[in-house]
Amino acid sequence: MTRWWTTDETHDPARTSWVESAQGHGDFPIQNLPYGVFSPNGAEARIGVAIGDMILDLAACVEAGLIARDAALLHPTLNALMALPGVMRRSLRRAISALLSDPAMRATVTPHLHVAGDCTLHLPAQIGDYSDFYVGIHHANNIGRQFRPDNPLLPNYKYVPIGYHGRASSIRPSGEALVRPCGQRKAPDADAPVYGPTARLDYELELGVWVGPGNDLGSPIGIHDAAEHIAGFCLLNDWSARDFQAWEYQPLGPFLAKNFHSTISPWVVTAEAMAPFRIAQPARPDGDPAPLPYLADPVDQAHGALGLTLAVYLTSATMRAEGMAPMRLSHGPASNMYWTVQQIVTHHASNGCNLMPGDLLGTGTISAPLREGFGSLMELSAGGKEPLTLPTGETRAFLADGDEVMLRAVARADGFMSIGFGECRAQILPARG
Ligand code: MN
Repeated sequence: MTRWWTTDETHDPARTSWVESAQGHGDFPIQNLPYGVFSPNGAEARIGVAIGDMILDLAACVEAGLIARDAALLHPTLNALMALPGVMRRSLRRAISALLSDPAMRATVTPHLHVAGDCTLHLPAQIGDYSDFYVGIHHANNIGRQFRPDNPLLPNYKYVPIGYHGRASSIRPSGEALVRPCGQRKAPDADAPVYGPTARLDYELELGVWVGPGNDLGSPIGIHDAAEHIAGFCLLNDWSARDFQAWEYQPLGPFLAKNFHSTISPWVVTAEAMAPFRIAQPARPDGDPAPLPYLADPVDQAHGALGLTLAVYLTSATMRAEGMAPMRLSHGPASNMYWTVQQIVTHHASNGCNLMPGDLLGTGTISAPLREGFGSLMELSAGGKEPLTLPTGETRAFLADGDEVMLRAVARADGFMSIGFGECRAQILPARG
């Protein structure tokens, strides 16, 4: 029986592509095959697959009869493809992998390849709804300690995958600059707030989870079935204005501190591609409560975590002008999540809330216990008290105009080819008005 961690010939590390740049490609070897939406040279948006430094036009392959016709592949978004059941998504993956590995197909398929660098990448799906969780327990501890020194984790944390509803309209693909937001902030010793550009702009290193088949309103998703409702993954930078956040977050949670812009990597690394990189969820520390039964599943605990390494890089405008390499700010494993992605999905739908294909769920900032793995500047600079020094000698307590933040992720497992997520990057423009 094929399960979501079952591998097949598409994961064979010996499989190669006749697309030369795919060989040894850190992100997009033939074992990955992520989906995206792209425009070749200003043409209409269509679905493509990243392979090495190229993009395969999937819609054109369908039109040419190289891939079995499915209307889902002819849309300018991935929503309908994401809605396909896992068994159909797996067979599509096998067909694409066969096309790109069989040397006999080279002449026929080559006209449908485009140089990725000449293409525009769009948001992969029409995102109906976006929710952000808070499952990075080390981040929750680090931030909680700054806001509530005696009480970093609230009593619900180990029972409830904490989350909030975010905003979908301001989610943008990698490469699109963000404008420094204006808002209300109040210094602790000030009598009243002021309105103006944020002085504490931060990034958050997160994983995005793309919802596949949805659920009917009123019908929860059981934890045993949750993996079949996940289409894939991306990187997510949940840009945050910490000064707005501190002033506005009680009693209803994040609002304008978070919804001004979120950046995602444009390639959807499929649940199918991630099959070899499923690992056991780390055991909870002694004394922690067991998940309530609706979130508890031995299969999820055995296979539900992701063997991914995440990293954050920064360049300032001066660093780029001087041709300096990006500075790595942190790196750490995605297994530092207190809840699995399946538990997030099940919890979100547990009250009957209907998830839709193409909805995006953020994990929350993923941090490690030690500083080298801290997933935000708020943590790295200890709330701004300990600024970082860049290779130019510049310092950063929070982000400056002209800074560019880039997130990366690599999945690794013994006996398999590593795959990457591509870039999730954006530069900061000065505030307007
Ligand atoms: Mn967040």
